[in-house]
Amino acid sequence: MAYDSNNIFARILRGEIPCKKVHEDEHTLAFHDINPQAPVHILVIPKGAYVSMNDFSARASDAEIAGLVRAVGKVAEMAGVTEDGWRMLSNIGENGHQEVPHLHIHIFGGCKLGHMLP
Ligand code: IMP
Repeated sequence: MAYDSNNIFARILRGEIPCKKVHEDEHTLAFHDINPQAPVHILVIPKGAYVSMNDFSARASDAEIAGLVRAVGKVAEMAGVTEDGWRMLSNIGENGHQEVPHLHIHIFGGCKLGHMLP
C-alpha cells in the first residue's frame, strides 16, 4: 500500500492537527489516543513515512527501528505501567483492522486488561 501523506498522523507530525504529546525524540512521537480504551492508552509513531510494520520492518533503518522500540519502552516507563504490566499492539492492514495508515504502536495499561484473542 502506498503511503498517504494526508493521513491524520502525518498531519499531527506536521503540526497541522494538535495532539496531547507524551514524548518526542529524533525518530518518534508519542501522544494520548483520542478515544482511550484503557486508563493508559498512548500511541507511539515513527516520524518516517511508514504505513505499517510491513514496510517499517522492510525499509526502516536500524536506527529508526531501535528508536521506536526504545521509545515504546520509555513511554511505558513514563506512564507508570511497567511494574503492574501493560500491552503493546499494532494493527496491520484490513484483517488487522488498521484505521490510520501510518504505523503506530498502541500502549495499553493502568488496569487489568482483558484476554486478547483473535
Ligand atoms: P488503529 O485501528 O490501530 O489504526 O487505531 C487508530 C487509533 O488512532 C484509534 O485508537 C483512534 O482512537 C486513534 N486516533 C485517531 N485519530 C486520532 C487523533 O487525532 N489523535 C489521537 N488518536 C487518534
